[in-house]
Amino acid sequence: MGLPTADDYLPGHGDRSFAVRHYDLELDYAVEGNRLDGRAVLDVEVLEATDRLVLDLAHLSVGKVRVASGWSRDQAARSTRKAARSKPAARDGAPGLKKFTTRSHRVVLTLDGEAEAGTRLTVTVGYSGHPKPLVTRHLGDAGWEELTDGVIVAAQPHGSPTWFPCNDRPDDKATYRLALTVTAGYRVEANGTLVRHTRRGSAEVWVWEQAQPMATYLATVQIGRYREWPLPARPASGLPVAVVAGDLDRTAFADAFGRQHEMVDVFEEHFGPYPFDSYRVVVTDDDLEIPLESQTLSTFGRNLVRGDWDATRLIAHELAHQWFGNAVTLRDWKDIWLHEGFACYSEWVWSEASGGPTAAQQAAHHHAGLEAKDTDLLLADPGPDLMFDDRVYKRGALTLHQLRCEVGDAAFFSLLRSWVADFAGGSVTTEDFLAHASKETGVNVATLLRPWLHETSLPPLPTAGR
Ligand SMILES: [Zn+2]
Repeated sequence: MGLPTADDYLPGHGDRSFAVRHYDLELDYAVEGNRLDGRAVLDVEVLEATDRLVLDLAHLSVGKVRVASGWSRDQAARSTRKAARSKPAARDGAPGLKKFTTRSHRVVLTLDGEAEAGTRLTVTVGYSGHPKPLVTRHLGDAGWEELTDGVIVAAQPHGSPTWFPCNDRPDDKATYRLALTVTAGYRVEANGTLVRHTRRGSAEVWVWEQAQPMATYLATVQIGRYREWPLPARPASGLPVAVVAGDLDRTAFADAFGRQHEMVDVFEEHFGPYPFDSYRVVVTDDDLEIPLESQTLSTFGRNLVRGDWDATRLIAHELAHQWFGNAVTLRDWKDIWLHEGFACYSEWVWSEASGGPTAAQQAAHHHAGLEAKDTDLLLADPGPDLMFDDRVYKRGALTLHQLRCEVGDAAFFSLLRSWVADFAGGSVTTEDFLAHASKETGVNVATLLRPWLHETSLPPLPTAGR
């Protein structure tokens, strides 16, 4: 029997027959030697009757697997490594595990009977090995990667299976608890809130909890010899914001992050309250080709710790993903413009608010840039080869600018705020956005934006004519 694919853009990832509601990850990691030992306890809800569950896990060996009926936090706590045996669980109606096999970066759990839709199962997987990025033909490498002295996890879009067994599809959002024991002297940053940090001999234990639902690709771990760098002020809302990094030039740090709190203020004003409990930035000691967003956290290479626009716009861009991409997440990868177009437009919003070129000037500049490029990209379905093409970002931002020009500033930012308020924690499509924008403004937004979304030729530069 073939293995399932949840999304055409990521062949061989994800299983739509079940959802994971919570991941409880207990990891041991030795920086020297890049050795990971893990135990994942998954709260699984069956969505369609099935006699197998297919998890994604790449480059790591599976030890013990257990499937138990029902779910409770107590069960997760009791399910220690010792208890993780590859034996069927005690039966109380739901099937247990018959056997498991591994192939093609998947763990196939065959059940000893059919699980009905709605069945809740606790799946425990012990695993270990030397994690490394997963490489695909279209999308390059992603996932757990060693730095010169530490680790970065950059999982978008297909790297999550490199460090935990998961149902790797963007619309399967879950809460997380991550307890990571690491060589002493390293700091562990992850999603959500640090709830515990203790020393245990030559190791330190870092426990992070992400209480809001999160897509697998947004789960991250950052390990390095980092410390917290003080910021000049908090945002007006009081949101806790922190930057952790190794040694940096103080002037460059101030140039890059001196206005981070104002950026949060501007985005909260335009997009509504920041959707999570905190925002943290990790600056790696290594240079990075591109920065990346994770839920509640962004990662930049030290090469981006600068004050020029090309660095500043990326600091704005990654922050904006907390609203657009992390709180409100696409259901299918083909709708990537809902993340990247919005984050790119947010760069222009910051430009305008911070005394730089207005959004209209940015739009004109980037429209001219697109005029010089090929017009073979369909924004609403660019295909896996082009999903992170720069034209998705710029054309996506121009699409929003078209809407703003049509409905005016007040209605435009109001619909962005209600978009986040209504859909935070959930999964969305382009059609959801068009319907929402139409409902909020009374304009037929699907017709207005069709040339931008569903045709490849470049529409004229939008201007606020009225
Ligand atoms: Zn982005």
